[in-house]
Parts: sequence; C-alpha cells; structure tokens
Amino acid sequence: MRVGIVGAGVAGLVTAWLVEEACDVVVVESRRRVGGNARSAAGFAGGAPAVFDLGAQEIAADDSSPHTALLAALGVDERHRLDVPSSHTFSVAGRPTPLLVGPHPGRPADLDRGPAWAAVRSFLDDAGEPSRWDWDVPFGSLLDGLSPPPDARDVLCALPAALFGCPLADVPALSARVALTYVLGVAADPVAEVRLLRGGMEGLAWALAGRLAAAEVRTGCPVERVERTGDGYVLSDAAGRRDAVDHLVLAVPPPVALRLLPASMTGPDGGWRVLRRFAYRPLRYALHLDPAYLPADRSSWSTTNVLVHDGRAEITTWYGPSHGVDVFKSQLTHRSAPPRRVVATSAFDALPVTTDVIGARRALDRLQGRENLHFAGHHTTGSGDQESAIASAAAVARRLAPGSSRLRHLPTP
Ligand SMILES: Cc1cc2nc3c(=O)[nH]c(=O)nc-3n(C[C@H](O)[C@H](O)[C@H](O)COP(=O)(O)OP(=O)(O)OC[C@H]3O[C@@H](n4cnc5c(N)ncnc54)[C@H](O)[C@@H]3O)c2cc1C
Repeated sequence: MRVGIVGAGVAGLVTAWLVEEACDVVVVESRRRVGGNARSAAGFAGGAPAVFDLGAQEIAADDSSPHTALLAALGVDERHRLDVPSSHTFSVAGRPTPLLVGPHPGRPADLDRGPAWAAVRSFLDDAGEPSRWDWDVPFGSLLDGLSPPPDARDVLCALPAALFGCPLADVPALSARVALTYVLGVAADPVAEVRLLRGGMEGLAWALAGRLAAAEVRTGCPVERVERTGDGYVLSDAAGRRDAVDHLVLAVPPPVALRLLPASMTGPDGGWRVLRRFAYRPLRYALHLDPAYLPADRSSWSTTNVLVHDGRAEITTWYGPSHGVDVFKSQLTHRSAPPRRVVATSAFDALPVTTDVIGARRALDRLQGRENLHFAGHHTTGSGDQESAIASAAAVARRLAPGSSRLRHLPTP
C-alpha cells in the first residue's frame, strides 16, 4: 500500500516514521527544509555555537508526555534537552511598570509582582485544571463568571492573543480548556519549567527524517493539486512530478488542504467543506539583539515577556535564561517599529482554537479515513501544539498501520 504524505512538519514526519514499517511512504514538503513551524537558526552564545528557535521552541518539561516519549525513541535524551524557567512578565505600552512580574530564579522574592498578580492567581485557582473544562466551553464564560479586574483580564487574554495572533477582544471565543492550558503557568509560584532542545526544535524533524528507514522525503516540492483516481489519489507537485498513492495524508493546515483537494470535495456541497471553518492568523517573528520591547528595569525581564498594545499582545522571548545571552525572539506582526539588529525573520500562520474550531475538528474527525483520505496536524486535536501534532500522527497510524511496532513508543490515548 502506497501512502502519500503532504507536509514534513512534525505531524507529517511522525506519521511517516510510524507507518513506514507497513507502507510504502513518500513525504512531499514545499519548503526546502523539514520541520514546518519548527524552524531553528544557528548563532553564537558566550563564544560558542548555539541554536535559537524562530518558531516552535518549547514543550512541557514532563517526562510522561508523547513528545518526550518520541524524543526518547529517537535517541534524543536529556543531554540534548534544556529545561528552563517558564517565567512571565506582562506590560502595557505606555505604562511605566509591568502588570505582572512572575517569579524567576535570582529575582528578589520581595519584588513587587504588579497590580494584576493577586487577581490572576485567584482567577487561575478558581478556574482549576484545564481538563476540568469541556472543549466547547468558551473562555469568555469563565471571564464573565469569575470577573477578574481589567488589569488581570488583560494578562489572562494577552498570552493566548499573542500565541494565536488574534486581538484581545477575540480571546473570549477561544476554547476555555485551550486558553487555560496556555495561561496556567503565568502566575506559578514557584516558577514551572519548560523544555527546549539544545539543537533547536527543528532538530526533532531532522531526528525523525534521519530515522526513516524506507520512506522517501522530498523537500522544495510544493504539492499543487490532488486528483481523485479510483480508490486512490495522484499528487502533482510544482516540478511537474506526479505520484499515485492509495492513501493520502494531508499533514498541512486546512487552508492548504482546501487549495489542493478537488472543489467537488470541499465546495459548499462537498463532504469536506468543514475544512473552511479553520481560520488562521498571520504571525511574523524575528530573532534580534535589541531589548526594545522589554521593561526598562532588567530585573523585571522573564523568559516570556508579553506587551499589550493597540488591543493586541505580542511576545518577546528572552534567551538569557536558556543560552546566557541577550538574544530575543519577538513577534513583530503588529509592532509600530521593528527592533534594531535583526538577525533572522520568519512568517507563520496560527490557528486560534475557538469553540467553533472545536466543532469543526469533531466534524473532521468523523471524516478521517473516508475515501482513503486522512488529516494529521496540530489543528485536529488538543491545544494546537506539538503534542497535538504527534497525537494526530499516532491516530492516523493506528488506522493505516495498526501493527506498527513504533506505535508502542507513544502513550495510548
Ligand atoms: C510561531 C509558532 C510557534 C509555536 N511554538 C510552539 C511551541 O513552542 N511549542 C509547541 O508545542 N507548539 C508550538 N506551536 C504550534 C505548532 O504549530 C506545532 O507545535 C507543530 O509544529 C505543528 O506541526 P504540524 O506538522 O501540525 O504543522 P506544520 O508545522 O504547519 O507543518 C505543515 C507542513 O506542511 C508544509 N506544506 C504546506 N503547504 C504544502 C504544500 N502545498 N505541499 C507540500 N507541503 C506543504 C509546510 O511547509 C509545513 O512544513 C507554534 C506554532 C507557531 C506558528
């Protein structure tokens, strides 16, 4: 059975790794590199070569997560991981002092934590674990029910708004379970940790590609069209190459899937029209050497620094705690002025996981495997992170290659 996988992000590569034992696999990727949203850049820190992430960079420092299990199966052990404090500072443009300055190693315990600290902690205590909430509950119902004061509300909305590239006003429409997953740690005391890869998150994609024994991976080949032929599909790429496959795995965001599939499948009467309900937002990131977007007082800097401005919020990640240097990764999508000394930029699209998206992905789930067509990716399950991408790949593999010995490496759902 020949399987065509479109997209060599985490979801596409994990799918290939899981099913290649049982299937003849070809992975076709439009960019010239594997990794999708995991994009790393080579740099220098403290006189030695170092790698900085431009896109996806962190996972939970949780030894039982699917991501950690996958890394272990690929031989990426603790020597290659870096657990760093997940500290947070929230500021508002034009206000002299931050709204919230969370704990951070070395920061004085008696430092003023800002006007939102107590109310944010109380909100998060009352909201409880994200898993307490059904995916369909909008975050707005928690905000309305628990009524945090305006400063605390800004903090609670800022991180999801920044991560998903949406205005603060759109955050109430997000799934409460998803929004809470991202804000849970913002007022943790003591500070929690997140896990980075020393070689950059793109290294996971390299490790996966390196472990493929039989699957073919082609980069720099955008798939332009997918045709239905009998029970299978033919993929046509930009170089004019055509691949006939029995099963098709679309490991690309739904807006790309919409462009590729025949209109008869995705149009107003098509069975896959649900793909139209996944609305992405553009995001632009830069690696730079200018602390322009951080509080003037360095003692307030955190690993994650969020600036609220113009009804939006944007993140600056400070690499000091992980790499020991003042290198910054900032979202630049809506800033009025770019930082000085920019060393790399990259553009992405993010999917705000609203309650409507939750409904859409349930509908998509019911279509999985129908007409030998499968969807893998962050949009299909969970909070839209790398754990989601891995879980989605495992779900596809359980249908295509249920006997694959590699499935045993990943926790069963
Ligand atoms: C800026 C940013 C930062 C993030 N940070 C984190 C983080 O720190 N931690 C975390 O867990 N998650 C993070 N995420 C979420 C992230 O989306 C997932 O972690 C994961 O990387 C998504 O993998 P994926 O395979 O589902 O999709 P993608 O990574 O989007 O992969 C899709 C692939 O399909 C390819 N493609 C598109 N069109 C075509 C075509 N026509 N033909 C062939 N190939 C095509 C793309 O080039 C891409 O390689 C972040 C997301 C963004 C946007």
